[in-house]
Amino acid sequence: MTEPLTAAPAAGANSQNSPVLMSTYARQDVAFVRGEGAWLFAADGERYLDFGSGVAVNVLGHAHPHLVEALTEQATQLWHTSNLYRSPGQERLAQRLCATTFADRVFFCNSGTEACEGAIKAARRYHYVNGHPERWRVITFEGAFHGRTLTALAAAANPKYLEGCGIAADGFDNIPVSEPEALAAIGPETAAIMVEPVMGEGGVRVVPAEDLQLMRALCDEHGLLLIFDEVQTGVGRTGRLFAHEHAGIEPDIMAIAKGIGGGFPLGAILATEKAASGMTAGSHGSTFGGNPLAMAVGNAVLDVVLEPGFLEEVSRKAARLRQSLAEIKDRFSDLVLEVRGEGLLMGLKLNPDVPVADCVKAALAEHLLLITASDNVVRILPPLNISEDDIVEGTARIARALSKLTVPAR
Ligand SMILES: *Cc1c(COP(=O)(O)O)cnc(C)c1O
Repeated sequence: MTEPLTAAPAAGANSQNSPVLMSTYARQDVAFVRGEGAWLFAADGERYLDFGSGVAVNVLGHAHPHLVEALTEQATQLWHTSNLYRSPGQERLAQRLCATTFADRVFFCNSGTEACEGAIKAARRYHYVNGHPERWRVITFEGAFHGRTLTALAAAANPKYLEGCGIAADGFDNIPVSEPEALAAIGPETAAIMVEPVMGEGGVRVVPAEDLQLMRALCDEHGLLLIFDEVQTGVGRTGRLFAHEHAGIEPDIMAIAKGIGGGFPLGAILATEKAASGMTAGSHGSTFGGNPLAMAVGNAVLDVVLEPGFLEEVSRKAARLRQSLAEIKDRFSDLVLEVRGEGLLMGLKLNPDVPVADCVKAALAEHLLLITASDNVVRILPPLNISEDDIVEGTARIARALSKLTVPAR
Protein backbone atom coordinates (compact mmCIF):
# COMPACT_ATOMS: atom_id res chain seq x y z
CA MET A 1 0.00 0.00 0.00
CA THR A 2 1.14 3.52 -0.72
CA GLU A 3 0.78 6.26 1.86
CA PRO A 4 -2.63 7.91 1.88
CA LEU A 5 -2.64 11.16 -0.04
CA THR A 6 -3.07 13.30 3.03
CA ALA A 7 -2.38 16.39 0.97
CA ALA A 8 -5.51 15.79 -1.05
CA PRO A 9 -8.35 18.05 0.01
CA ALA A 10 -11.22 16.48 1.91
CA ALA A 11 -14.86 17.36 1.45
CA GLY A 12 -15.47 20.93 2.44
CA ALA A 13 -12.02 22.22 1.55
CA ASN A 14 -12.10 25.00 -0.98
CA SER A 15 -10.45 23.14 -3.79
CA GLN A 16 -12.74 23.17 -6.78
CA ASN A 17 -11.04 26.10 -8.46
CA SER A 18 -7.38 25.13 -8.58
CA PRO A 19 -5.36 28.04 -9.96
CA VAL A 20 -3.12 25.67 -11.93
CA LEU A 21 -5.78 23.59 -13.67
CA MET A 22 -7.70 24.93 -16.63
CA SER A 23 -11.17 25.91 -15.55
CA THR A 24 -12.92 23.46 -17.88
CA TYR A 25 -14.80 21.47 -15.23
CA ALA A 26 -17.37 22.42 -12.60
CA ARG A 27 -15.87 20.06 -10.04
CA GLN A 28 -17.61 18.98 -6.86
CA ASP A 29 -15.70 20.05 -3.78
CA VAL A 30 -14.49 16.62 -2.74
CA ALA A 31 -11.42 14.54 -3.62
CA PHE A 32 -11.28 10.78 -3.35
CA VAL A 33 -8.17 8.91 -2.35
CA ARG A 34 -9.34 5.30 -2.34
CA GLY A 35 -12.15 3.13 -3.62
CA GLU A 36 -13.55 -0.27 -2.79
CA GLY A 37 -16.39 -1.76 -4.80
CA ALA A 38 -19.20 0.78 -5.05
CA TRP A 39 -17.70 2.99 -2.33
CA LEU A 40 -15.23 5.88 -2.51
CA PHE A 41 -13.29 7.32 0.41
CA ALA A 42 -12.26 10.94 0.82
CA ALA A 43 -9.01 11.91 2.54
CA ASP A 44 -10.91 12.61 5.77
CA GLY A 45 -12.15 8.99 5.78
CA GLU A 46 -15.74 9.89 4.84
CA ARG A 47 -17.25 7.32 2.48
CA TYR A 48 -19.49 7.93 -0.50
CA LEU A 49 -21.67 5.56 -2.47
CA ASP A 50 -20.76 5.76 -6.15
CA PHE A 51 -23.85 5.84 -8.38
CA GLY A 52 -21.89 7.43 -11.23
CA SER A 53 -19.07 4.94 -11.80
CA GLY A 54 -16.84 7.70 -13.15
CA VAL A 55 -19.41 8.24 -15.91
CA ALA A 56 -20.11 4.62 -16.79
CA VAL A 57 -16.44 3.65 -16.57
CA ASN A 58 -15.95 1.64 -13.37
CA VAL A 59 -18.19 -1.25 -14.45
CA LEU A 60 -16.72 -3.47 -11.72
CA GLY A 61 -16.53 -0.75 -9.10
CA HIS A 62 -13.25 0.37 -7.57
CA ALA A 63 -10.16 -1.75 -6.92
CA HIS A 64 -11.74 -4.97 -8.17
CA PRO A 65 -9.21 -7.65 -7.15
CA HIS A 66 -9.13 -9.32 -10.57
CA LEU A 67 -8.44 -6.03 -12.35
CA VAL A 68 -5.84 -4.98 -9.79
CA GLU A 69 -4.07 -8.29 -10.21
CA ALA A 70 -4.14 -8.12 -14.02
CA LEU A 71 -2.76 -4.59 -14.04
CA THR A 72 -0.04 -5.11 -11.44
CA GLU A 73 1.03 -8.40 -13.04
CA GLN A 74 1.32 -6.70 -16.44
CA ALA A 75 3.11 -3.73 -14.86
CA THR A 76 5.96 -6.01 -13.80
CA GLN A 77 6.30 -7.41 -17.34
CA LEU A 78 5.86 -4.77 -20.04
CA TRP A 79 4.18 -1.37 -20.31
CA HIS A 80 4.53 -0.26 -23.88
CA THR A 81 6.04 -1.32 -27.17
CA SER A 82 4.08 0.76 -29.75
CA ASN A 83 2.15 -0.71 -32.65
CA LEU A 84 5.29 -1.42 -34.64
CA TYR A 85 5.22 -4.97 -33.25
CA ARG A 86 2.67 -7.70 -32.72
CA SER A 87 0.63 -7.49 -29.54
CA PRO A 88 -0.63 -10.71 -27.92
CA GLY A 89 -2.89 -8.69 -25.59
CA GLN A 90 -4.57 -6.89 -28.51
CA GLU A 91 -4.97 -10.11 -30.47
CA ARG A 92 -6.61 -11.81 -27.49
CA LEU A 93 -8.96 -8.95 -26.61
CA ALA A 94 -9.91 -8.41 -30.26
CA GLN A 95 -10.56 -12.11 -30.71
CA ARG A 96 -12.85 -12.11 -27.67
CA LEU A 97 -14.71 -8.96 -28.78
CA CYS A 98 -15.24 -10.48 -32.22
CA ALA A 99 -16.42 -13.78 -30.75
CA THR A 100 -19.08 -12.02 -28.67
CA THR A 101 -20.31 -9.37 -31.16
CA PHE A 102 -21.09 -8.74 -34.85
CA ALA A 103 -17.49 -7.63 -35.43
CA ASP A 104 -14.67 -9.25 -37.42
CA ARG A 105 -12.03 -6.54 -36.90
CA VAL A 106 -10.96 -4.28 -34.03
CA PHE A 107 -8.76 -1.20 -33.75
CA PHE A 108 -7.67 -0.10 -30.28
CA CYS A 109 -7.43 3.52 -29.18
CA ASN A 110 -7.51 5.35 -25.84
CA SER A 111 -10.85 7.09 -25.48
CA GLY A 112 -14.44 7.32 -26.61
CA THR A 113 -13.85 10.35 -28.78
CA GLU A 114 -11.07 8.62 -30.63
CA ALA A 115 -13.24 5.56 -31.13
CA CYS A 116 -16.04 7.75 -32.55
CA GLU A 117 -13.72 9.65 -34.86
CA GLY A 118 -12.13 6.40 -35.97
CA ALA A 119 -15.56 4.96 -36.68
CA ILE A 120 -16.43 7.98 -38.86
CA LYS A 121 -13.10 7.65 -40.64
CA ALA A 122 -13.65 3.93 -41.23
CA ALA A 123 -17.09 4.63 -42.75
CA ARG A 124 -15.75 7.31 -45.08
CA ARG A 125 -12.79 5.19 -46.11
CA TYR A 126 -15.06 2.20 -46.76
CA HIS A 127 -16.88 4.16 -49.43
CA TYR A 128 -13.63 5.61 -50.71
CA VAL A 129 -11.95 2.25 -51.31
CA ASN A 130 -15.17 0.93 -52.80
CA GLY A 131 -15.30 3.58 -55.50
CA HIS A 132 -17.52 6.18 -53.82
CA PRO A 133 -15.30 8.95 -52.49
CA GLU A 134 -18.29 11.31 -52.76
CA ARG A 135 -19.99 9.41 -49.94
CA TRP A 136 -18.55 11.03 -46.86
CA ARG A 137 -21.43 12.68 -44.98
CA VAL A 138 -22.72 11.16 -41.75
CA ILE A 139 -26.24 11.52 -40.40
CA THR A 140 -26.20 12.20 -36.66
CA PHE A 141 -28.84 13.13 -34.10
CA GLU A 142 -29.76 16.20 -32.06
CA GLY A 143 -28.78 15.75 -28.44
CA ALA A 144 -26.06 13.23 -29.31
CA PHE A 145 -22.68 13.21 -27.63
CA HIS A 146 -19.67 11.70 -29.35
CA GLY A 147 -16.82 13.38 -27.46
CA ARG A 148 -14.84 16.59 -27.41
CA THR A 149 -12.50 16.66 -30.38
CA LEU A 150 -13.43 19.13 -33.09
CA THR A 151 -14.89 16.51 -35.41
CA ALA A 152 -16.78 14.71 -32.63
CA LEU A 153 -18.26 18.07 -31.63
CA ALA A 154 -19.27 18.78 -35.22
CA ALA A 155 -20.91 15.34 -35.38
CA ALA A 156 -23.07 16.00 -32.32
CA ALA A 157 -23.63 19.63 -33.37
CA ASN A 158 -24.28 20.93 -29.85
CA PRO A 159 -23.99 24.72 -30.29
CA LYS A 160 -22.93 25.18 -26.65
CA TYR A 161 -19.85 22.96 -27.09
CA LEU A 162 -18.96 24.29 -30.54
CA GLU A 163 -19.04 27.94 -29.47
CA GLY A 164 -15.75 29.71 -30.04
CA CYS A 165 -14.15 26.75 -31.80
CA GLY A 166 -14.23 28.18 -35.30
CA ILE A 167 -16.18 26.83 -38.25
CA ALA A 168 -17.50 23.37 -37.36
CA ALA A 169 -16.15 20.52 -39.45
CA ASP A 170 -18.37 19.81 -42.45
CA GLY A 171 -19.73 16.37 -43.26
CA PHE A 172 -22.55 15.91 -40.76
CA ASP A 173 -26.33 16.16 -41.15
CA ASN A 174 -27.75 16.47 -37.66
CA ILE A 175 -31.44 15.55 -37.39
CA PRO A 176 -33.99 15.12 -34.56
CA VAL A 177 -34.01 11.57 -33.19
CA SER A 178 -37.71 11.64 -32.40
CA GLU A 179 -38.56 12.15 -36.08
CA PRO A 180 -37.14 9.23 -38.01
CA GLU A 181 -38.88 10.68 -41.10
CA ALA A 182 -36.02 13.15 -41.05
CA LEU A 183 -33.89 10.26 -42.26
CA ALA A 184 -35.03 11.50 -45.66
CA ALA A 185 -31.86 13.56 -45.19
CA ILE A 186 -30.09 10.58 -46.76
CA GLY A 187 -28.58 11.74 -50.05
CA PRO A 188 -26.01 10.72 -52.65
CA GLU A 189 -23.19 11.93 -50.38
CA THR A 190 -24.33 10.02 -47.30
CA ALA A 191 -21.85 7.46 -46.00
CA ALA A 192 -23.33 6.41 -42.68
CA ILE A 193 -25.84 6.91 -39.88
CA MET A 194 -24.32 7.26 -36.42
CA VAL A 195 -26.33 6.95 -33.21
CA GLU A 196 -26.13 6.09 -29.51
CA PRO A 197 -28.75 3.40 -28.71
CA VAL A 198 -29.29 5.27 -25.43
CA MET A 199 -28.26 8.93 -25.45
CA GLY A 200 -26.46 9.16 -22.15
CA GLU A 201 -25.19 12.73 -21.95
CA GLY A 202 -28.25 13.79 -23.93
CA GLY A 203 -30.57 12.95 -21.03
CA VAL A 204 -30.63 9.14 -20.87
CA ARG A 205 -32.97 9.01 -23.83
CA VAL A 206 -33.55 5.47 -25.06
CA VAL A 207 -33.81 5.35 -28.85
CA PRO A 208 -36.81 3.08 -29.54
CA ALA A 209 -35.94 -0.33 -30.99
CA GLU A 210 -38.17 0.41 -34.01
CA ASP A 211 -36.12 3.50 -34.80
CA LEU A 212 -32.86 1.56 -34.64
CA GLN A 213 -34.42 -1.14 -36.83
CA LEU A 214 -35.56 1.53 -39.31
CA MET A 215 -32.01 2.92 -39.45
CA ARG A 216 -30.68 -0.58 -40.12
CA ALA A 217 -33.19 -1.07 -42.93
CA LEU A 218 -32.41 2.33 -44.48
CA CYS A 219 -28.66 1.66 -44.34
CA ASP A 220 -29.18 -1.66 -46.11
CA GLU A 221 -31.45 -0.06 -48.70
CA HIS A 222 -29.07 2.81 -49.48
CA GLY A 223 -25.74 1.02 -49.07
CA LEU A 224 -24.83 3.04 -45.96
CA LEU A 225 -22.96 1.90 -42.88
CA LEU A 226 -24.68 1.93 -39.50
CA ILE A 227 -22.42 3.17 -36.70
CA PHE A 228 -23.41 2.67 -33.07
CA ASP A 229 -21.70 4.78 -30.44
CA GLU A 230 -21.78 2.39 -27.48
CA VAL A 231 -19.08 4.23 -25.56
CA GLN A 232 -21.48 4.67 -22.63
CA THR A 233 -23.99 1.87 -23.22
CA GLY A 234 -21.52 -0.94 -23.91
CA VAL A 235 -19.92 -3.69 -21.85
CA GLY A 236 -23.00 -4.76 -19.92
CA ARG A 237 -24.32 -1.35 -18.87
CA THR A 238 -27.83 -2.01 -20.17
CA GLY A 239 -28.01 -5.65 -19.11
CA ARG A 240 -26.81 -6.98 -22.46
CA LEU A 241 -23.17 -6.98 -23.51
CA PHE A 242 -24.08 -4.19 -25.96
CA ALA A 243 -27.28 -2.13 -25.93
CA HIS A 244 -28.15 -2.71 -29.58
CA GLU A 245 -28.78 -6.38 -28.76
CA HIS A 246 -32.10 -5.28 -27.20
CA ALA A 247 -33.24 -4.17 -30.68
CA GLY A 248 -32.21 -7.41 -32.35
CA ILE A 249 -30.06 -5.72 -34.99
CA GLU A 250 -26.35 -5.20 -35.55
CA PRO A 251 -24.31 -2.22 -36.69
CA ASP A 252 -21.52 -2.30 -39.26
CA ILE A 253 -19.20 -0.29 -37.02
CA MET A 254 -19.27 0.33 -33.27
CA ALA A 255 -17.31 2.71 -31.04
CA ILE A 256 -16.65 1.54 -27.49
CA ALA A 257 -14.58 2.88 -24.56
CA LYS A 258 -15.55 3.74 -20.95
CA GLY A 259 -16.60 0.35 -19.51
CA ILE A 260 -14.18 -1.85 -21.46
CA GLY A 261 -11.25 -0.37 -19.54
CA GLY A 262 -12.95 -0.57 -16.13
CA GLY A 263 -11.12 2.65 -15.22
CA PHE A 264 -8.05 2.29 -17.42
CA PRO A 265 -8.10 4.50 -20.55
CA LEU A 266 -9.14 2.25 -23.43
CA GLY A 267 -11.31 2.60 -26.50
CA ALA A 268 -11.90 0.54 -29.60
CA ILE A 269 -13.49 0.58 -33.03
CA LEU A 270 -15.25 -2.66 -33.92
CA ALA A 271 -16.31 -3.40 -37.50
CA THR A 272 -17.41 -6.12 -39.86
CA GLU A 273 -14.85 -7.33 -42.40
CA LYS A 274 -16.67 -5.31 -45.07
CA ALA A 275 -16.90 -2.09 -43.05
CA ALA A 276 -13.23 -2.39 -42.07
CA SER A 277 -12.10 -2.68 -45.69
CA GLY A 278 -11.02 0.95 -45.85
CA MET A 279 -8.78 0.66 -42.80
CA THR A 280 -5.78 -0.33 -44.88
CA ALA A 281 -2.11 -0.26 -43.89
CA GLY A 282 -1.10 3.25 -42.88
CA SER A 283 -4.66 4.64 -42.94
CA HIS A 284 -4.96 4.99 -39.18
CA GLY A 285 -2.82 4.68 -36.09
CA SER A 286 -2.24 5.46 -32.43
CA THR A 287 0.90 5.51 -30.33
CA PHE A 288 -0.71 4.37 -27.09
CA GLY A 289 -3.73 2.53 -28.56
CA GLY A 290 -3.83 -1.08 -27.39
CA ASN A 291 -1.00 -0.58 -24.91
CA PRO A 292 -0.19 -3.79 -22.93
CA LEU A 293 -1.45 -2.32 -19.64
CA ALA A 294 -4.78 -1.40 -21.23
CA MET A 295 -5.05 -4.81 -22.86
CA ALA A 296 -4.40 -6.61 -19.59
CA VAL A 297 -7.20 -4.66 -17.92
CA GLY A 298 -9.58 -4.94 -20.89
CA ASN A 299 -9.15 -8.69 -20.95
CA ALA A 300 -9.67 -8.84 -17.19
CA VAL A 301 -12.91 -6.82 -17.48
CA LEU A 302 -14.19 -9.32 -20.05
CA ASP A 303 -13.19 -12.24 -17.79
CA VAL A 304 -15.75 -10.99 -15.28
CA VAL A 305 -18.45 -9.53 -17.53
CA LEU A 306 -18.55 -12.65 -19.73
CA GLU A 307 -18.83 -15.00 -16.75
CA PRO A 308 -22.02 -17.03 -17.10
CA GLY A 309 -24.85 -15.28 -15.28
CA PHE A 310 -23.13 -11.91 -14.87
CA LEU A 311 -25.35 -10.03 -17.32
CA GLU A 312 -28.48 -11.75 -15.97
CA GLU A 313 -27.51 -10.41 -12.55
CA VAL A 314 -27.14 -6.92 -14.01
CA SER A 315 -30.66 -7.16 -15.43
CA ARG A 316 -32.04 -8.40 -12.14
CA LYS A 317 -30.42 -5.53 -10.23
CA ALA A 318 -31.58 -3.10 -12.89
CA ALA A 319 -35.18 -4.24 -12.40
CA ARG A 320 -34.75 -3.68 -8.68
CA LEU A 321 -33.30 -0.20 -9.22
CA ARG A 322 -36.02 0.73 -11.69
CA GLN A 323 -38.73 -0.33 -9.25
CA SER A 324 -37.21 1.79 -6.47
CA LEU A 325 -36.91 4.76 -8.82
CA ALA A 326 -40.56 4.36 -9.83
CA GLU A 327 -41.49 4.48 -6.14
CA ILE A 328 -39.37 7.62 -5.76
CA LYS A 329 -41.14 9.21 -8.72
CA ASP A 330 -44.53 8.46 -7.11
CA ARG A 331 -43.42 9.85 -3.78
CA PHE A 332 -41.84 13.01 -5.24
CA SER A 333 -44.21 13.47 -8.17
CA ASP A 334 -43.80 17.26 -8.21
CA LEU A 335 -40.00 16.90 -8.49
CA VAL A 336 -39.53 13.80 -10.64
CA LEU A 337 -41.36 13.84 -13.95
CA GLU A 338 -40.05 10.64 -15.50
CA VAL A 339 -37.89 7.59 -14.91
CA ARG A 340 -35.85 6.74 -18.01
CA GLY A 341 -33.17 4.39 -19.14
CA GLU A 342 -32.18 0.82 -19.72
CA GLY A 343 -30.39 -1.56 -17.37
CA LEU A 344 -28.06 0.27 -14.99
CA LEU A 345 -28.05 3.41 -17.15
CA MET A 346 -30.97 5.22 -15.57
CA GLY A 347 -32.17 8.80 -15.40
CA LEU A 348 -34.65 10.85 -13.43
CA LYS A 349 -36.07 13.76 -15.37
CA LEU A 350 -36.65 16.56 -12.90
CA ASN A 351 -39.14 19.37 -12.88
CA PRO A 352 -37.62 22.12 -15.09
CA ASP A 353 -37.85 24.55 -12.13
CA VAL A 354 -35.42 22.43 -10.13
CA PRO A 355 -31.91 22.54 -11.63
CA VAL A 356 -30.47 19.05 -11.86
CA ALA A 357 -27.19 20.33 -10.42
CA ASP A 358 -29.06 21.09 -7.17
CA CYS A 359 -30.11 17.46 -6.98
CA VAL A 360 -26.54 16.25 -7.55
CA LYS A 361 -25.38 18.61 -4.78
CA ALA A 362 -28.08 17.43 -2.41
CA ALA A 363 -27.09 13.82 -3.14
CA LEU A 364 -23.44 14.64 -2.46
CA ALA A 365 -24.49 15.99 0.92
CA GLU A 366 -26.02 12.52 1.51
CA HIS A 367 -22.69 11.02 0.42
CA LEU A 368 -24.11 9.69 -2.81
CA LEU A 369 -22.54 10.40 -6.21
CA LEU A 370 -24.92 11.11 -9.10
CA ILE A 371 -24.23 12.73 -12.46
CA THR A 372 -26.05 15.39 -14.42
CA ALA A 373 -27.18 14.95 -18.01
CA SER A 374 -28.89 17.29 -20.48
CA ASP A 375 -32.65 17.79 -20.47
CA ASN A 376 -32.58 18.33 -16.68
CA VAL A 377 -31.94 14.65 -16.07
CA VAL A 378 -29.94 13.21 -13.20
CA ARG A 379 -28.02 10.11 -14.28
CA ILE A 380 -27.77 7.01 -12.14
CA LEU A 381 -25.05 4.55 -13.20
CA PRO A 382 -23.90 2.31 -10.36
CA PRO A 383 -21.16 -0.26 -10.93
CA LEU A 384 -22.56 -3.35 -12.66
CA ASN A 385 -21.56 -5.58 -9.74
CA ILE A 386 -23.27 -3.41 -7.12
CA SER A 387 -24.95 -5.35 -4.30
CA GLU A 388 -28.70 -5.35 -3.66
CA ASP A 389 -28.03 -3.72 -0.30
CA ASP A 390 -26.15 -0.88 -1.92
CA ILE A 391 -29.00 -0.34 -4.40
CA VAL A 392 -31.38 -0.06 -1.43
CA GLU A 393 -28.95 2.27 0.34
CA GLY A 394 -28.42 4.40 -2.77
CA THR A 395 -32.10 4.83 -3.53
CA ALA A 396 -32.76 5.73 0.11
CA ARG A 397 -30.11 8.45 -0.24
CA ILE A 398 -31.72 9.67 -3.48
CA ALA A 399 -35.02 9.98 -1.61
CA ARG A 400 -33.33 11.88 1.23
CA ALA A 401 -31.67 14.22 -1.28
CA LEU A 402 -34.96 14.87 -3.07
CA SER A 403 -36.69 15.58 0.23
CA LYS A 404 -34.28 18.52 0.67
CA LEU A 405 -35.31 20.05 -2.66
CA THR A 406 -38.39 22.14 -3.23
CA VAL A 407 -40.18 23.17 -6.37
CA PRO A 408 -40.28 26.99 -6.36
CA ALA A 409 -43.83 28.37 -6.30
CA ARG A 410 -44.80 29.95 -9.60
C1 LIG B 1 -18.19 9.66 -22.99
C2 LIG B 1 -18.68 9.48 -24.38
C3 LIG B 1 -17.87 9.77 -25.49
C4 LIG B 1 -16.50 10.38 -25.34
O1 LIG B 1 -15.64 9.55 -24.65
P1 LIG B 1 -14.26 10.13 -24.07
O2 LIG B 1 -13.58 8.91 -23.54
O3 LIG B 1 -14.60 11.15 -23.05
O4 LIG B 1 -13.51 10.71 -25.20
C5 LIG B 1 -18.38 9.51 -26.74
N1 LIG B 1 -19.60 9.00 -26.91
C6 LIG B 1 -20.41 8.70 -25.88
C7 LIG B 1 -21.76 8.12 -26.13
C8 LIG B 1 -19.98 8.95 -24.57
O5 LIG B 1 -20.80 8.70 -23.55
